[in-house]
Amino acid sequence: MFTIDKIRADFPILKRKVHGKPLVYFDNGATSQTPQVVIDAIVDYYSNYNANIHRGVHTLSQEATDKYEEARIKIQKHFNAKHSYEIILTSGTTESINIVSSGFSSILKKGDEVIVSALEHHSNIVPWQMMCEKTGAVLRVLPMDEDGSLRLDLFDQMLSNKTKLVFCNHVSNALGTINPIEAIIHRAHKFGAYVLVDGAQACPHIKPDVQELDVDFYVASAHKMCGPTGVGILYGKSELLEKLPPYQGGGEMIETVTFEKTTYAGLPHKFEAGTPNICGGIAFGVAIDYMNSIGFENIAKQENELLAYGTEKLLEIEGLKIYGTTRKASVISFNIEGIHPYDIGSILDKLGIAVRTGHHCAQPIMNFYKIPGTVRASFAFYNTKEEIDILVEAVKKAKMMLS
Ligand SMILES: *Cc1c(COP(=O)(O)O)cnc(C)c1O
Repeated sequence: MFTIDKIRADFPILKRKVHGKPLVYFDNGATSQTPQVVIDAIVDYYSNYNANIHRGVHTLSQEATDKYEEARIKIQKHFNAKHSYEIILTSGTTESINIVSSGFSSILKKGDEVIVSALEHHSNIVPWQMMCEKTGAVLRVLPMDEDGSLRLDLFDQMLSNKTKLVFCNHVSNALGTINPIEAIIHRAHKFGAYVLVDGAQACPHIKPDVQELDVDFYVASAHKMCGPTGVGILYGKSELLEKLPPYQGGGEMIETVTFEKTTYAGLPHKFEAGTPNICGGIAFGVAIDYMNSIGFENIAKQENELLAYGTEKLLEIEGLKIYGTTRKASVISFNIEGIHPYDIGSILDKLGIAVRTGHHCAQPIMNFYKIPGTVRASFAFYNTKEEIDILVEAVKKAKMMLS
């Protein structure tokens, strides 16, 4: 049973006030809020078994290691990876992408081509540009359309035997677009290209099955799916992760070290140098359990209702334009004619409403629409229609004050 009052009670922060008004948290695309069970797991770790993992023979270290590795298995099951060692625990999406891009920096050659979608977050653009600079590979851009969808019709023409890698997000953080990654993966594979899907914005809404997708690399961050900051995953097919060189050298990632030669540990440890975010990894596992206990069908249903309702109500405001009108997740990116998004965001904050304003780390999308940025309201399953009513009234008020 999906009971919104019960769900909201799981999130202590939703009780707080901002500038004397009840918090309306619509910045879920930037980070989600944290349920009490996840907070409790963090407190439990530091109160009861804080210790370094994989090293000690003592009890605390063994408990921490067991919990950390249990979390990896939970994550593996959630994403349906074939093996738990295909789940690399990282500091988040950004680091996960950098592990892959830096690995391919020693594999790609001059003249190779890689394709990036026009809808990417900077963290799925910049690392690849750095890789191309090092290797001489050419970065090509799969264009987008006015409605915020990708020009899949142009994709086949761009693919060739030279194409080695394709990068695309599963859901766009700036517009909410749900990208046709199944088709992208399928077509890229026909040309022998590998595909990395940035799932940071999809995983709060969708439970991806990496085997069914047949995706080569899939990355996500815990903090967008009810978990803590500073932890995320890199899923990779084991044969590809084996091929990539390590990202960082240090403890944990070695088998033997002498001054003449070091041999690396196997997966996943090869990519996990140093002491990881142990507590974060464990709490990530708890967050995944929490989201599954709510159920992704229930999450989708609630969020789709909020999206439809919010879209309808906001569009009643004259001069308001929504960017991204194709099939999408619960994100509404909008502007009001003649008003800077930052000014709207500031007034909304005074009224207790948290939204994101600006380019959302996706400047190429803003350039496409020839705008400086947007106001982005992104909804989670713990949001309500009443909160959307508060937003709509506040936007009307902001419009009046600013025009
Ligand atoms: C948030 C986000 C990122 C970056 O995630 P970090 O947790 O900051 O590393 C990358 N891509 C998309 C689509 C995102 O929404």
